[in-house]
Amino acid sequence: MITLRSVLYILAFALFIYGLMGLTGPRTAVRGNAIAAAGMVVAVVATLLTPGLGNWWLIALGLVLGSVIGVPAARRVKMTAMPQMVALFNGVGGGAVALTAWVEFRETAGFQGEPAFVSVSTLFAAIIGSVSFWGSLVAFGKLQEIVPGRPITVGRLQLPLNVLLLAGAVGCAVAIGLGGNAEWLLVALLVLAGVAGIAVVLPIGGADMPVVVSLLNASTGLSAAAAGLALSNTAMIVAGMLVGASGSILTDQMAKAMNRSIPSIVAGGFGGGATTAPAVTGGSVRAVSAADVAIQLAYAGQVIVVPGYGMAVAQAQHAVQDMAKLLTDRGVAVDYAIHPVAGRMPGHMNVLLAEADVPYEQLKEMDEINDEFARTDVALVIGANDVTNPAARSDPNSPIYGMPILNVDQAKAVIVLKRSMRAGFAGVDNPLYTDPKTTMLFGDAKSSVREVVEELKAL
Ligand code: NDP
Repeated sequence: MITLRSVLYILAFALFIYGLMGLTGPRTAVRGNAIAAAGMVVAVVATLLTPGLGNWWLIALGLVLGSVIGVPAARRVKMTAMPQMVALFNGVGGGAVALTAWVEFRETAGFQGEPAFVSVSTLFAAIIGSVSFWGSLVAFGKLQEIVPGRPITVGRLQLPLNVLLLAGAVGCAVAIGLGGNAEWLLVALLVLAGVAGIAVVLPIGGADMPVVVSLLNASTGLSAAAAGLALSNTAMIVAGMLVGASGSILTDQMAKAMNRSIPSIVAGGFGGGATTAPAVTGGSVRAVSAADVAIQLAYAGQVIVVPGYGMAVAQAQHAVQDMAKLLTDRGVAVDYAIHPVAGRMPGHMNVLLAEADVPYEQLKEMDEINDEFARTDVALVIGANDVTNPAARSDPNSPIYGMPILNVDQAKAVIVLKRSMRAGFAGVDNPLYTDPKTTMLFGDAKSSVREVVEELKAL
């Protein structure tokens, strides 16, 4: 039967899909996000129209509390802290799904008289939701550096332990499915799955954390879809499947960009995470002034700008665009080389540079521009480190060995802008800095680029 609720649900998921389409490009992303958010408002209203819904005060309290915490947090978060924000919000989603499953268990007195698909999908949602909640909290802690970024493991016993925990949770689910309706079984299931979530994420190094967050995000989506199935809530099924499918594709793309397989990431052990390692031992480094950099750039025929996480931290994108404009006005060809995992989230550099109105055609993906470096006069690296590290190509002992990198070292000259000799996200040395054709301009990227701009104007 067609009801107002079902019409609103159809409208909600049509808005989700339309909004998601907007997220495929930086120019339409903000609008896409707003459209999807409007879809979520419609879905909430439709759910509130469910007959027999009570506890209005509790619902209002929940909505107010969620908005009071969520809105300022989302407004204030720095772009560079987005992965931990996503981890936290995703975890909360997983936790909500696990709690919904618990409520469903209580309401039906352990699924008495319910069809099998209700119990199976609810129990699936409970396990994955709990794994996702606790795993996301650990991921948040690692990204926020509250929990050490290095792998924390119990050694060779880790894998059997993880398997045992998950098998225990599944065992509880089977016991419930076979008619065991004692509540402690469900609590044990949630606890075992939660400990499994913690045990799986703790051994994974900080460098892999953004991929893990994306993986957990995909799992939360699937668990929400499963809960939607049990609750006959179409908006939840569609939204959950959209998150599950897009999260899986994103996870796959991030893992591919780092040349890593998802099972090897989940197995753990890679990446120190902390960015405090004293980088580059041996070999000398040549520091230059902003005036030297301006001269070198002004008299080049072709310059490739390589932005990285440091440009995002410094918020240097507008200054970089000013500099590029001065150079193009002088007849220098300027392009931007975008590595797929530069920064801390996929598309991070595209978003920042689009915000600074860098012409889209100047943004070149890695595959498109990598051969170009050998013909380039100057590669100007602004706050990028790991994505330019030649050790990924040449040193089988390097933890980032095999990760595709930008061929910066093949340019005729390399200028690196960063504050110190500290390592990047993966915590490994970068031999590019001691390459004889590399010079370094030390300082905050925004101040350095601004100085270069002033020098260019004075030339
Ligand atoms: P890195 O983290 O490797 O290096 C950034 C560099 O920027 C640092 O060495 C730092 O050096 C410098 N920096 C920091 N702040 C400033 C500042 N204010 N001004 C100037 N320089 C600054 O960044 P990359 O972008 O090269 O690489 C991204 C890393 O993140 C890779 O390891 C990638 O695998 C990882 N990652 C990214 C994901 C994504 O989706 N984008 C997903 C998963 C992982 P110093 O402190 O000396 O200034």
